[in-house]
Amino acid sequence: MSNLLDISELHWLLDIVQSIDVGVVVLDRDYRIQVWNSFMENHSGQSARQVSQRSLLDLFPEIDRTWFTQKIETAAMLGTRVFTIWEQRPYLVRFRSYQPITGLVDHMYQNVTILPLRTVNGSTDHVCLIIYDVTNVAINKLQLEAANTQLQELALHDDLTGLLNRRHWENCLEHEFARHNRYSSEASLVIFDIDHFKQLNDTYGHQAGDEVIRQVAEVTQGMIRDTDYAGRYGGEEFVVLLSDTPLEGAVLFAERLCQAVAQRRILHGEQQLQCSVSIGVACIHPGMADHRMLIEEADKALYQAKSGGRNRVVAAGQTSIG
Ligand code: GH3
Ligand code: MG
Ligand code: MG
Repeated sequence: MSNLLDISELHWLLDIVQSIDVGVVVLDRDYRIQVWNSFMENHSGQSARQVSQRSLLDLFPEIDRTWFTQKIETAAMLGTRVFTIWEQRPYLVRFRSYQPITGLVDHMYQNVTILPLRTVNGSTDHVCLIIYDVTNVAINKLQLEAANTQLQELALHDDLTGLLNRRHWENCLEHEFARHNRYSSEASLVIFDIDHFKQLNDTYGHQAGDEVIRQVAEVTQGMIRDTDYAGRYGGEEFVVLLSDTPLEGAVLFAERLCQAVAQRRILHGEQQLQCSVSIGVACIHPGMADHRMLIEEADKALYQAKSGGRNRVVAAGQTSIG
């Protein structure tokens, strides 16, 4: 500000500070409020007169004291501006947001600039806070992030069942196979296919068929551990990769799964449906060149389970179990 500034020009400046659409607050070194512009009045519901000389920290208990005082002290001591951004801390003071775009956000997102105010003799007795309403920017970014997460989900999962889709599941298998090679960890593959599914479709319709697929997936999902990977491999064909599980463990799992599916009563409209699955099991072993061989072995076992009478489990290298 130049010394030539006369009183009317000072008045203009005050008018500007009053009417700009950002919050302007001046604090003394004890955090007592000296200036409080109309943006602050409108959003806080407290007039400049009401808050004058009161501590900002007392007025807004949501402010993290340690964090905020450190920021202010840094600005005052170094004589430089300090910024805070909404990504790190959504707001300094909690103001309601009236964004019509979404009902999700009920507070204003804020970026804040802390500006040290020097006196003519060089000391910093006051700091100015400039508070920007960045709710629009924040909402856009958050919505974009949410959409991306959703897209990612869609790219990895099967629509009907929510299980991993084939491509992603095969990636997981490849990963697990590499892990096995590096650390000699055990892993087994369970592959299964719904029995006489064509007939079920023909008798009850495609939608009933879809419901059966969905519920078989649900039974499966309910039986696996967090570290296992269940995927929909084809129409009514499923795969479960059991990490750190030897063949015997995988066979036990497959038998429980086989029983659970057979016992499941599936309601579709007025109809109560039932189905069974045939299951092939194989495990990674030293003679296996790559992950495709694991699928091949399990698939062969599945074929044997089908030809052995269905609704049963066959482990690679064995004949029908039960
Ligand atoms: P099998 O016991 O030998 O497995 O007999 P199957 O009738 O189940 O024979 P297969 O596995 O070859 O039949 C698969 C059938 O599943 C063919 C197709 O019409 C049906 N199908 C594939 N995908 C879907 C789907 O997403 N929804 C429904 N409703 N049917 C599907
Ligand atoms: Mg089938
Ligand atoms: Mg099939």
